[in-house]
Amino acid sequence: MIEVIDLCKSYGPMLAVDEVGFTVRPGAVTAFVGPNGAGKSTVLRIALGLDTADSGSVLIQGRPYRLLDAPSRRVGALLDAGAIHPGQTGRTHLRILARAAALPPERVEQVLAQVGLEAVARDRVRTYSLGMRQRLGIAAALLGDPDVLILDEPTNGMDPEGIGWLENLLRSYAAAGRTVLMSSHHMSELEQVADRVVVIAAGRVVADADLGELVHGP
Ligand code: ADP
Ligand code: ADP
Repeated sequence: MIEVIDLCKSYGPMLAVDEVGFTVRPGAVTAFVGPNGAGKSTVLRIALGLDTADSGSVLIQGRPYRLLDAPSRRVGALLDAGAIHPGQTGRTHLRILARAAALPPERVEQVLAQVGLEAVARDRVRTYSLGMRQRLGIAAALLGDPDVLILDEPTNGMDPEGIGWLENLLRSYAAAGRTVLMSSHHMSELEQVADRVVVIAAGRVVADADLGELVHGP
């Protein structure tokens, strides 16, 4: 479970996140949706301990989380797949992360297969499309077999086949009773991928509902 509690964050005079609160429960895929600049990444970065809040807090499984203290274990995260080191091969990228998390190299081969990148694992990341980089970032998030998955804009650059693949992955992850939160600026993806949606606009939560309620009324 992820609890975002009365979160506020300003950058200079700009209030990027304004009293944001919502809960992500296990067993469903929750989409965190809003236009570019709405504050999604800021909330996710604070949730992962990569940025600090001005006030409020985020608890993951009941306590604050710091990604850099516990790589790839309790929580799997994808942030900005476009920024993955372009000079590494996909396999090397994952091996470095696996070693940092004390996971065996065989785990790297498992996640490569899970995201469908075995055939390009020896190629450098600079040769990957953005959709392939997203798969690599998702593989990194899955390495530690975490109970909580947080993915920032994982569908950016994915073709419809990739989005269908991601849908299946996230649904099976959630069906196993795990917690899944993904952000997106594409409302149109939601009905396909998510069970629950939290909508953010200009730093404020403007809707928080089961997808069925939002589309068809409560
Ligand atoms: P989203 O992920 O929804 O696109 P962000 O959380 O990235 O939104 O950004 C929210 C707002 O905060 C935007 O106006 C953005 O320009 C601003 N912002 C985000 N990070 C920084 C930063 N490090 N410094 C200054 N402004 C920032
Ligand atoms: P943009 O930057 O224009 O918002 P993205 O980078 O997020 O687009 O999307 C990358 C590609 O994925 C685009 O070709 C877009 O058309 C496609 N795409 C986005 N959402 C969907 C969707 N729900 N179904 C199919 N294709 C999609």
